[in-house]
Amino acid sequence: MSSAPLALTRSQLEKICETFPTPFHIYDEKRIRENARAMKDAFSWIPGFKNYFAVKACPNPVILQILREEGFGADCSSLPELIMAEKAGITGENIMFTSNDTPAEEFVEAARLGAVLNLDDITHMETMEKSVGIPELVCFRYNPGEARTGNAIIGHPSEAKYGVTSEQILDAYSLMKEKGVKRFGLHTMVASNELNGDYFIETARMLFTLAADINKKTGVRIEFINMGGGIGIPYKPGDKAVNLSHISDGMKELYEQILIPSGLDPMRIVFECGRMVTGPYGYLVSRVRHIAEKYKTYAGLDASMANLMRPALYGAYHHISVPGKENYPSEKIYDVTGSLCENNDKFAVDRFLPELDPGDLVVIHDTGAHGYAMGFNYNGKLRSSELLLQENGKVRLIRRAERVEDYFATLSFDEETVDL
Ligand SMILES: *Cc1c(COP(=O)(O)O)cnc(C)c1O
Repeated sequence: MSSAPLALTRSQLEKICETFPTPFHIYDEKRIRENARAMKDAFSWIPGFKNYFAVKACPNPVILQILREEGFGADCSSLPELIMAEKAGITGENIMFTSNDTPAEEFVEAARLGAVLNLDDITHMETMEKSVGIPELVCFRYNPGEARTGNAIIGHPSEAKYGVTSEQILDAYSLMKEKGVKRFGLHTMVASNELNGDYFIETARMLFTLAADINKKTGVRIEFINMGGGIGIPYKPGDKAVNLSHISDGMKELYEQILIPSGLDPMRIVFECGRMVTGPYGYLVSRVRHIAEKYKTYAGLDASMANLMRPALYGAYHHISVPGKENYPSEKIYDVTGSLCENNDKFAVDRFLPELDPGDLVVIHDTGAHGYAMGFNYNGKLRSSELLLQENGKVRLIRRAERVEDYFATLSFDEETVDL
Protein backbone atom coordinates (compact mmCIF):
# COMPACT_ATOMS: atom_id res chain seq x y z
CA MET A 1 0.00 0.00 0.00
CA SER A 2 1.31 3.41 -0.85
CA SER A 3 -0.07 6.82 -0.06
CA ALA A 4 -3.65 7.38 1.05
CA PRO A 5 -6.01 8.74 -1.61
CA LEU A 6 -7.49 12.18 -1.01
CA ALA A 7 -11.03 11.82 0.31
CA LEU A 8 -12.42 14.50 -2.04
CA THR A 9 -13.89 14.28 -5.53
CA ARG A 10 -13.04 16.55 -8.39
CA SER A 11 -16.29 18.46 -8.01
CA GLN A 12 -15.72 18.94 -4.27
CA LEU A 13 -12.23 20.23 -5.03
CA GLU A 14 -13.60 22.62 -7.67
CA LYS A 15 -16.04 23.90 -5.07
CA ILE A 16 -13.18 24.51 -2.63
CA CYS A 17 -11.26 26.33 -5.39
CA GLU A 18 -14.11 28.83 -5.83
CA THR A 19 -13.17 30.21 -2.38
CA PHE A 20 -9.55 29.11 -1.97
CA PRO A 21 -7.79 28.99 -5.34
CA THR A 22 -4.98 26.57 -6.14
CA PRO A 23 -2.32 25.85 -5.18
CA PHE A 24 -3.02 24.81 -1.57
CA HIS A 25 -2.05 22.13 0.88
CA ILE A 26 -5.05 20.40 2.45
CA TYR A 27 -4.87 18.23 5.58
CA ASP A 28 -7.38 15.55 6.57
CA GLU A 29 -8.26 16.04 10.25
CA LYS A 30 -10.09 12.74 10.71
CA ARG A 31 -7.24 10.65 9.38
CA ILE A 32 -4.63 12.59 11.34
CA ARG A 33 -6.60 11.94 14.55
CA GLU A 34 -7.08 8.25 13.72
CA ASN A 35 -3.39 7.92 12.97
CA ALA A 36 -2.39 9.65 16.23
CA ARG A 37 -4.65 7.26 18.16
CA ALA A 38 -3.21 4.23 16.35
CA MET A 39 0.29 5.34 17.36
CA LYS A 40 -0.73 5.71 21.01
CA ASP A 41 -2.43 2.30 20.96
CA ALA A 42 0.61 0.60 19.45
CA PHE A 43 2.81 1.73 22.35
CA SER A 44 0.21 1.66 25.12
CA TRP A 45 2.27 -0.75 27.31
CA ILE A 46 4.99 1.91 27.70
CA PRO A 47 4.79 3.82 30.98
CA GLY A 48 4.12 7.48 30.16
CA PHE A 49 4.35 7.02 26.38
CA LYS A 50 4.10 10.26 24.43
CA ASN A 51 4.87 11.46 20.94
CA TYR A 52 6.26 14.98 20.82
CA PHE A 53 5.16 16.01 17.32
CA ALA A 54 8.12 17.54 15.47
CA VAL A 55 6.73 21.01 14.78
CA LYS A 56 9.05 21.50 11.80
CA ALA A 57 7.13 18.80 9.91
CA CYS A 58 3.88 20.78 9.82
CA PRO A 59 4.20 24.09 11.63
CA ASN A 60 0.60 25.17 11.90
CA PRO A 61 -1.01 25.88 15.30
CA VAL A 62 -4.33 24.33 14.25
CA ILE A 63 -2.57 21.04 13.49
CA LEU A 64 -0.69 21.29 16.80
CA GLN A 65 -3.97 21.85 18.67
CA ILE A 66 -5.48 18.76 17.07
CA LEU A 67 -2.47 16.72 18.13
CA ARG A 68 -2.52 18.22 21.62
CA GLU A 69 -6.14 17.05 21.91
CA GLU A 70 -4.87 13.57 21.00
CA GLY A 71 -2.34 13.72 23.84
CA PHE A 72 0.75 14.64 21.84
CA GLY A 73 3.43 17.09 22.90
CA ALA A 74 5.59 19.29 20.65
CA ASP A 75 9.21 18.91 19.64
CA CYS A 76 10.57 22.38 18.90
CA SER A 77 13.89 23.46 17.47
CA SER A 78 13.67 27.25 17.26
CA LEU A 79 12.18 30.31 18.93
CA PRO A 80 9.21 30.63 16.55
CA GLU A 81 8.43 26.93 16.97
CA LEU A 82 8.44 27.36 20.76
CA ILE A 83 6.05 30.28 20.46
CA MET A 84 3.83 28.29 18.11
CA ALA A 85 3.65 25.39 20.57
CA GLU A 86 2.62 27.82 23.31
CA LYS A 87 -0.05 29.36 21.04
CA ALA A 88 -1.41 25.86 20.47
CA GLY A 89 -1.67 25.37 24.23
CA ILE A 90 1.31 23.03 24.52
CA THR A 91 3.47 24.11 27.45
CA GLY A 92 5.82 22.86 30.20
CA GLU A 93 7.35 19.43 29.82
CA ASN A 94 4.97 18.71 26.95
CA ILE A 95 7.55 20.61 24.91
CA MET A 96 10.88 19.01 24.04
CA PHE A 97 13.39 21.62 22.94
CA THR A 98 15.68 19.69 20.61
CA SER A 99 17.86 22.19 18.79
CA ASN A 100 21.49 22.43 17.78
CA ASP A 101 23.99 25.28 17.65
CA THR A 102 21.49 26.80 20.05
CA PRO A 103 21.54 30.53 20.81
CA ALA A 104 21.19 31.68 24.42
CA GLU A 105 17.89 33.48 23.78
CA GLU A 106 16.27 30.22 22.70
CA PHE A 107 17.28 28.57 25.97
CA VAL A 108 15.70 31.55 27.74
CA GLU A 109 12.40 31.13 25.90
CA ALA A 110 12.41 27.34 26.32
CA ALA A 111 13.10 27.68 30.05
CA ARG A 112 10.34 30.31 30.38
CA LEU A 113 7.92 27.77 28.93
CA GLY A 114 9.25 25.04 31.23
CA ALA A 115 10.24 22.92 28.21
CA VAL A 116 12.59 19.95 28.47
CA LEU A 117 16.04 21.20 27.42
CA ASN A 118 17.70 18.63 25.16
CA LEU A 119 21.38 19.53 24.76
CA ASP A 120 23.02 18.80 21.43
CA ASP A 121 26.61 19.35 22.50
CA ILE A 122 28.81 19.57 25.59
CA THR A 123 29.42 23.28 24.86
CA HIS A 124 25.68 23.83 25.30
CA MET A 125 25.96 23.07 29.04
CA GLU A 126 27.77 26.35 29.49
CA THR A 127 25.45 28.32 27.16
CA MET A 128 22.50 26.94 29.10
CA GLU A 129 23.99 27.65 32.52
CA LYS A 130 24.88 31.22 31.56
CA SER A 131 21.47 31.95 30.07
CA VAL A 132 19.05 30.13 32.38
CA GLY A 133 21.11 28.62 35.20
CA ILE A 134 20.96 24.95 36.11
CA PRO A 135 17.50 23.49 35.47
CA GLU A 136 15.99 20.60 37.39
CA LEU A 137 15.78 18.43 34.25
CA VAL A 138 18.32 18.04 31.44
CA CYS A 139 18.39 15.70 28.44
CA PHE A 140 21.29 14.95 26.10
CA ARG A 141 21.14 14.02 22.45
CA TYR A 142 23.43 11.04 21.87
CA ASN A 143 25.35 10.43 18.63
CA PRO A 144 26.58 6.82 18.41
CA GLY A 145 29.12 7.54 15.64
CA GLU A 146 30.45 4.45 13.90
CA ALA A 147 28.22 2.21 16.00
CA ARG A 148 25.22 2.89 13.72
CA THR A 149 24.55 3.68 10.08
CA GLY A 150 22.08 6.38 9.09
CA ASN A 151 20.49 7.01 5.71
CA ALA A 152 20.51 9.43 2.80
CA ILE A 153 18.34 12.15 4.34
CA ILE A 154 20.07 12.41 7.71
CA GLY A 155 23.57 11.11 6.84
CA HIS A 156 25.71 8.66 8.79
CA PRO A 157 26.02 9.41 12.52
CA SER A 158 29.81 9.70 12.32
CA GLU A 159 29.37 12.44 9.69
CA ALA A 160 26.45 14.12 11.43
CA LYS A 161 26.78 17.43 13.27
CA TYR A 162 24.36 16.35 15.97
CA GLY A 163 24.71 15.03 19.46
CA VAL A 164 27.17 14.13 22.18
CA THR A 165 29.67 11.37 21.37
CA SER A 166 30.14 8.04 23.14
CA GLU A 167 33.32 9.39 24.72
CA GLN A 168 31.68 12.54 26.01
CA ILE A 169 28.36 11.31 27.25
CA LEU A 170 29.22 9.84 30.67
CA ASP A 171 31.16 12.94 31.69
CA ALA A 172 28.32 15.14 30.47
CA TYR A 173 25.83 13.45 32.79
CA SER A 174 28.32 13.40 35.70
CA LEU A 175 29.00 17.10 35.32
CA MET A 176 25.32 18.00 35.20
CA LYS A 177 24.72 15.87 38.30
CA GLU A 178 27.55 17.65 40.15
CA LYS A 179 26.04 21.00 39.14
CA GLY A 180 22.77 20.02 40.77
CA VAL A 181 20.57 18.69 37.96
CA LYS A 182 18.06 16.30 39.56
CA ARG A 183 16.26 14.72 36.61
CA PHE A 184 17.69 13.35 33.35
CA GLY A 185 16.59 12.26 29.88
CA LEU A 186 18.44 10.53 27.05
CA HIS A 187 17.70 11.17 23.38
CA THR A 188 18.90 10.21 19.94
CA MET A 189 17.81 10.74 16.33
CA VAL A 190 19.75 8.59 13.90
CA ALA A 191 17.35 7.86 11.04
CA SER A 192 14.99 9.80 8.83
CA ASN A 193 12.16 8.41 6.71
CA GLU A 194 13.21 4.90 7.71
CA LEU A 195 10.80 2.15 6.65
CA ASN A 196 12.61 -0.73 8.32
CA GLY A 197 11.02 -1.19 11.75
CA ASP A 198 13.99 -3.24 12.97
CA TYR A 199 16.10 -0.11 12.78
CA PHE A 200 14.08 1.43 15.64
CA ILE A 201 14.32 -1.76 17.70
CA GLU A 202 18.11 -1.47 17.36
CA THR A 203 17.88 2.15 18.46
CA ALA A 204 15.97 1.03 21.54
CA ARG A 205 18.65 -1.57 22.28
CA MET A 206 21.35 1.09 21.96
CA LEU A 207 19.56 3.57 24.25
CA PHE A 208 18.43 1.01 26.84
CA THR A 209 21.99 -0.32 27.10
CA LEU A 210 23.38 3.19 27.35
CA ALA A 211 20.87 4.19 30.05
CA ALA A 212 21.93 1.13 32.09
CA ASP A 213 25.59 1.99 31.56
CA ILE A 214 25.08 5.63 32.57
CA ASN A 215 23.32 4.45 35.72
CA LYS A 216 26.11 2.03 36.63
CA LYS A 217 29.01 4.36 35.92
CA THR A 218 27.68 7.73 37.06
CA GLY A 219 24.77 6.96 39.37
CA VAL A 220 22.53 9.07 37.11
CA ARG A 221 19.05 7.55 36.80
CA ILE A 222 17.64 8.38 33.36
CA GLU A 223 13.88 8.99 33.76
CA PHE A 224 12.92 9.04 30.11
CA ILE A 225 14.32 7.79 26.83
CA ASN A 226 13.47 9.74 23.66
CA MET A 227 13.72 7.55 20.56
CA GLY A 228 13.66 10.59 18.24
CA GLY A 229 11.59 10.73 15.06
CA GLY A 230 12.33 9.33 11.66
CA ILE A 231 9.68 6.65 11.19
CA GLY A 232 9.15 6.66 7.43
CA ILE A 233 6.02 6.66 5.30
CA PRO A 234 5.27 4.80 2.06
CA TYR A 235 5.76 7.53 -0.54
CA LYS A 236 6.23 5.14 -3.45
CA PRO A 237 3.75 2.60 -4.76
CA GLY A 238 5.01 -0.69 -3.38
CA ASP A 239 6.49 0.86 -0.23
CA LYS A 240 5.04 -0.61 2.95
CA ALA A 241 4.08 1.44 5.99
CA VAL A 242 6.12 0.66 9.10
CA ASN A 243 4.37 -1.82 11.38
CA LEU A 244 4.32 0.02 14.71
CA SER A 245 3.27 -3.11 16.62
CA HIS A 246 6.41 -4.84 15.39
CA ILE A 247 8.57 -1.99 16.76
CA SER A 248 6.56 -1.95 19.97
CA ASP A 249 6.89 -5.73 20.52
CA GLY A 250 10.63 -5.60 19.87
CA MET A 251 11.02 -2.73 22.31
CA LYS A 252 9.01 -4.57 24.96
CA GLU A 253 11.30 -7.58 24.74
CA LEU A 254 14.36 -5.35 25.16
CA TYR A 255 12.70 -3.46 28.00
CA GLU A 256 12.35 -6.79 29.82
CA GLN A 257 15.85 -7.93 28.88
CA ILE A 258 17.78 -4.75 29.61
CA LEU A 259 15.88 -2.14 31.61
CA ILE A 260 14.12 -4.31 34.18
CA PRO A 261 17.26 -6.25 35.26
CA SER A 262 19.12 -2.91 35.49
CA GLY A 263 16.56 -1.60 37.93
CA LEU A 264 15.40 1.08 35.48
CA ASP A 265 11.72 0.11 35.43
CA PRO A 266 9.49 2.08 35.16
CA MET A 267 11.13 4.00 32.32
CA ARG A 268 9.16 6.52 30.28
CA ILE A 269 9.80 6.14 26.56
CA VAL A 270 8.81 8.83 24.09
CA PHE A 271 9.16 9.58 20.38
CA GLU A 272 9.31 12.81 18.42
CA CYS A 273 7.91 11.71 15.07
CA GLY A 274 6.60 14.27 12.63
CA ARG A 275 6.48 12.70 9.20
CA MET A 276 4.53 9.55 10.06
CA VAL A 277 1.89 11.55 11.96
CA THR A 278 0.75 14.05 9.33
CA GLY A 279 2.74 13.20 6.19
CA PRO A 280 0.31 10.85 4.45
CA TYR A 281 -2.73 13.00 5.28
CA GLY A 282 -1.64 16.20 3.56
CA TYR A 283 -1.98 16.89 -0.18
CA LEU A 284 -0.78 19.66 -2.44
CA VAL A 285 -3.59 20.51 -4.85
CA SER A 286 -2.53 22.34 -8.00
CA ARG A 287 -3.85 23.06 -11.48
CA VAL A 288 -2.28 22.34 -14.85
CA ARG A 289 -1.44 25.59 -16.65
CA HIS A 290 0.29 24.44 -19.79
CA ILE A 291 1.10 21.20 -21.53
CA ALA A 292 4.36 21.96 -23.31
CA GLU A 293 5.78 19.69 -25.99
CA LYS A 294 9.57 20.06 -26.24
CA TYR A 295 12.09 17.21 -26.37
CA LYS A 296 9.91 15.83 -23.59
CA THR A 297 6.34 16.55 -22.57
CA TYR A 298 5.98 18.95 -19.64
CA ALA A 299 2.90 19.50 -17.54
CA GLY A 300 3.40 22.94 -15.99
CA LEU A 301 1.48 23.46 -12.74
CA ASP A 302 0.52 26.55 -10.76
CA ALA A 303 2.51 25.13 -7.82
CA SER A 304 6.30 25.07 -7.77
CA MET A 305 9.11 23.76 -5.61
CA ALA A 306 8.46 26.79 -3.40
CA ASN A 307 5.40 24.82 -2.23
CA LEU A 308 7.05 21.42 -2.03
CA MET A 309 10.80 21.18 -2.11
CA ARG A 310 11.37 17.48 -1.40
CA PRO A 311 11.56 16.25 -5.01
CA ALA A 312 14.11 18.93 -5.91
CA LEU A 313 16.04 18.60 -2.66
CA TYR A 314 16.32 14.83 -2.30
CA GLY A 315 14.94 13.49 -5.57
CA ALA A 316 12.00 12.36 -3.43
CA TYR A 317 9.07 10.55 -5.01
CA HIS A 318 5.59 11.97 -4.45
CA HIS A 319 2.63 10.16 -5.87
CA ILE A 320 0.41 12.19 -8.20
CA SER A 321 -3.24 11.60 -8.95
CA VAL A 322 -5.63 13.38 -11.26
CA PRO A 323 -9.11 13.82 -9.76
CA GLY A 324 -11.84 12.95 -12.27
CA LYS A 325 -9.39 10.90 -14.33
CA GLU A 326 -8.97 8.04 -11.85
CA ASN A 327 -10.20 5.54 -14.39
CA TYR A 328 -8.21 6.83 -17.35
CA PRO A 329 -5.22 4.73 -18.37
CA SER A 330 -1.88 6.12 -17.14
CA GLU A 331 -0.15 5.92 -20.50
CA LYS A 332 1.31 9.35 -21.12
CA ILE A 333 4.76 10.23 -19.82
CA TYR A 334 5.23 13.66 -18.25
CA ASP A 335 7.71 15.71 -16.37
CA VAL A 336 5.43 17.56 -13.96
CA THR A 337 6.98 20.96 -13.31
CA GLY A 338 6.55 24.23 -11.49
CA SER A 339 7.33 27.68 -12.85
CA LEU A 340 10.53 28.40 -10.94
CA CYS A 341 13.61 29.24 -13.03
CA GLU A 342 15.48 26.12 -11.90
CA ASN A 343 15.38 22.99 -13.98
CA ASN A 344 15.05 20.81 -10.87
CA ASP A 345 11.64 22.40 -10.22
CA LYS A 346 9.94 19.11 -11.06
CA PHE A 347 7.39 17.26 -8.96
CA ALA A 348 7.88 14.17 -11.10
CA VAL A 349 10.19 13.08 -13.90
CA ASP A 350 9.13 10.59 -16.58
CA ARG A 351 5.91 9.85 -14.73
CA PHE A 352 3.12 7.82 -16.36
CA LEU A 353 -0.15 9.71 -15.88
CA PRO A 354 -3.55 9.95 -17.52
CA GLU A 355 -3.55 12.39 -20.44
CA LEU A 356 -3.52 15.86 -18.91
CA ASP A 357 -5.20 19.03 -20.16
CA PRO A 358 -4.77 22.64 -19.08
CA GLY A 359 -7.20 23.29 -16.21
CA ASP A 360 -6.99 19.76 -14.80
CA LEU A 361 -6.55 19.51 -11.05
CA VAL A 362 -3.57 17.50 -9.92
CA VAL A 363 -3.10 16.12 -6.40
CA ILE A 364 0.44 15.61 -5.13
CA HIS A 365 0.32 13.15 -2.24
CA ASP A 366 2.07 12.89 1.12
CA THR A 367 2.76 16.58 1.59
CA GLY A 368 1.51 16.71 5.19
CA ALA A 369 5.04 16.76 6.58
CA HIS A 370 8.11 18.65 5.38
CA GLY A 371 5.86 20.03 2.59
CA TYR A 372 4.55 23.55 3.16
CA ALA A 373 7.10 23.75 5.95
CA MET A 374 10.09 23.79 3.60
CA GLY A 375 8.59 26.52 1.42
CA PHE A 376 10.61 29.53 0.39
CA ASN A 377 10.40 32.71 -1.67
CA TYR A 378 13.21 32.29 -4.18
CA ASN A 379 12.32 33.68 -7.58
CA GLY A 380 9.58 35.77 -5.96
CA LYS A 381 7.39 32.72 -5.54
CA LEU A 382 4.76 33.13 -2.84
CA ARG A 383 3.83 30.38 -0.41
CA SER A 384 0.39 28.84 -0.76
CA SER A 385 -2.49 28.59 1.67
CA GLU A 386 -3.11 25.65 3.99
CA LEU A 387 -6.59 24.18 4.39
CA LEU A 388 -8.07 21.72 6.84
CA LEU A 389 -10.67 19.16 5.79
CA GLN A 390 -12.46 19.10 9.14
CA GLU A 391 -14.15 16.11 10.70
CA ASN A 392 -17.48 17.94 10.28
CA GLY A 393 -16.97 17.97 6.50
CA LYS A 394 -16.27 21.71 6.24
CA VAL A 395 -13.04 22.97 4.74
CA ARG A 396 -11.33 25.65 6.82
CA LEU A 397 -8.55 28.05 5.90
CA ILE A 398 -5.75 27.56 8.47
CA ARG A 399 -3.15 29.72 6.74
CA ARG A 400 -3.81 32.26 4.01
CA ALA A 401 -1.70 32.37 0.89
CA GLU A 402 1.12 34.89 0.86
CA ARG A 403 0.49 38.13 -0.99
CA VAL A 404 2.89 40.43 -2.77
CA GLU A 405 2.75 42.74 0.29
CA ASP A 406 4.15 39.92 2.42
CA TYR A 407 7.06 39.56 0.03
CA PHE A 408 7.81 43.27 0.32
CA ALA A 409 7.17 43.51 4.08
CA THR A 410 10.83 43.07 5.05
CA LEU A 411 11.84 45.80 2.59
CA SER A 412 9.74 48.58 4.10
CA PHE A 413 11.61 50.21 6.99
CA ASP A 414 13.28 53.49 7.85
CA GLU A 415 16.67 53.83 6.34
CA GLU A 416 19.24 52.37 8.75
CA THR A 417 22.94 52.93 8.28
CA VAL A 418 26.23 52.42 10.03
CA ASP A 419 28.81 55.22 10.08
CA LEU A 420 32.29 53.86 9.37
C1 LIG B 1 13.29 16.34 12.00
C2 LIG B 1 13.38 15.86 13.38
C3 LIG B 1 12.37 15.06 13.92
C4 LIG B 1 11.18 14.60 13.12
O1 LIG B 1 11.54 13.75 12.10
P1 LIG B 1 10.40 13.01 11.23
O2 LIG B 1 11.20 12.40 10.13
O3 LIG B 1 9.48 14.07 10.77
O4 LIG B 1 9.77 12.02 12.14
C5 LIG B 1 12.46 14.68 15.24
N1 LIG B 1 13.53 15.05 16.00
C6 LIG B 1 14.51 15.80 15.52
C7 LIG B 1 15.63 16.17 16.41
C8 LIG B 1 14.48 16.23 14.19
O5 LIG B 1 15.47 16.97 13.72
